[in-house]
Amino acid sequence: MRQHDIVIIGGGPAGLAAAIGAREEGIEDILILERDNCLGGILNQCIHNGFGLHTFKEELTGPEYAERFVDKVKEMNVPYKLNTMVIDINKDKIITAVNEEDGILEIKAKSIILAMGCRERPRGAINIPGSRCAGIYSAGAAQKFVNIDGYMPGKEVVILGSGDIGLIMARRMTLEGAKVKAVVELMPYSGGLKRNIVQCLDDFGIPLKLAHTVTDIKGKDRLEGVTIAKVDENRKPIKGTEEYIPCDTLLLSVGLVPENELSAKADVELSQVTGGPIVNESLQTNIEGVFACGNVLHVHDLVDYVTEESVSAGKNAARYINGQTFNKTGIEVIATNGARYTVPKFINPENINKLIDLRFRVGDVYKDNYISIYFDEVREMHIKKRILTPGEMETVKLTKALFEKHPDCKNITVKVEGE
Ligand SMILES: Cc1cc2nc3c(=O)[nH]c(=O)nc-3n(C[C@H](O)[C@H](O)[C@H](O)COP(=O)(O)OP(=O)(O)OC[C@H]3O[C@@H](n4cnc5c(N)ncnc54)[C@H](O)[C@@H]3O)c2cc1C
Repeated sequence: MRQHDIVIIGGGPAGLAAAIGAREEGIEDILILERDNCLGGILNQCIHNGFGLHTFKEELTGPEYAERFVDKVKEMNVPYKLNTMVIDINKDKIITAVNEEDGILEIKAKSIILAMGCRERPRGAINIPGSRCAGIYSAGAAQKFVNIDGYMPGKEVVILGSGDIGLIMARRMTLEGAKVKAVVELMPYSGGLKRNIVQCLDDFGIPLKLAHTVTDIKGKDRLEGVTIAKVDENRKPIKGTEEYIPCDTLLLSVGLVPENELSAKADVELSQVTGGPIVNESLQTNIEGVFACGNVLHVHDLVDYVTEESVSAGKNAARYINGQTFNKTGIEVIATNGARYTVPKFINPENINKLIDLRFRVGDVYKDNYISIYFDEVREMHIKKRILTPGEMETVKLTKALFEKHPDCKNITVKVEGE
């Protein structure tokens, strides 16, 4: 069996940044395993701009952003295997992978970094009734057809879901000559970034139908049209509000799910809210030496944050190889009153250098509210927010000084408060 110090599963932005972080801490023996035929992950098909504003203070396309990290990994001579699908990992950190060249590979790792990204929820997950005709795609699949393979999925398009992928695809399909008739969103607010609503819908006059859903799909061989209807506060369609939209293509952008089947096989504990591993401040899961970062941990809005987080995962894995151990739990962080979850879930203050980023999302839209952070019963932070939306990830920086002020703290609570 082959042995490596650190094996990284996934060669997207998370895996690449983790490899760079680990190498910067002096670890030589690293291997990246990537199932695709190139490094870079989902960014390779995101040819729009808007990437890297935080990291590089410039606006890059997805492939340009990825290329900077691919180049660095190559410059650092970090080994990687492409076309290599990891099919199993276990809690002893034995990885089983398969590719055409080696057949079945068994690798024993001292440390594993999970960086497998996420996947789209399919039609089956939302139970739309109607016929099972051609012309229904996930937005990401359509993005790959258009941007990588050079095929147009259709000419008259309805998009269900107004998360970032749905918004970006509304603009992309329009630029490629299709007519996007509507973006339909179940919730009374969009799940995407504000800048994407303006730049991808408003600029092209594409209607956004909030609090609506697709209630029927018509078509024998190919899609002929969809029926949409307004929904009530329980998200149930309201009778009499139906509207039929003729179209040949329906794109589904109805959520992303962290890709954690492998993590579950290794008995990594997963969060019911994010679908990603529960981690401590060092991004270590409940299995010693197994770390997680990027969209496999929780779905991020900006890749810059993926990079930041994944560099630390790589550095922590390197420290683990060099003999440091990390407590699996620590001070528990509780998300309540509008905050849905936090990453990390546990914090050991001794492992914090100067500060730690606490990332989370809210479950609803809040205007002119506060994010409050309590150390046990003491409110230590109270940050005014003009708007909080589920589509944007929030980050709060907790300083080491706060932990020193509360040496016996048992719980940190994150809340949304009106005043
Ligand atoms: C349509 C779209 C638009 C976006 N727009 C923006 C934007 O404008 N700005 C921005 O900052 N961010 C944007 N993002 C988000 C950004 O692309 C992601 O945050 C980032 O790609 C996540 O990186 P990752 O490495 O965690 O996941 P991924 O990029 O998904 O990489 C995961 C990698 O793991 C590999 N993998 C998975 N399972 C296995 C396995 N079993 N074996 C081997 N390899 C495996 C995959 O093949 C993949 O290469 C967008 C994303 C999408 C989809």
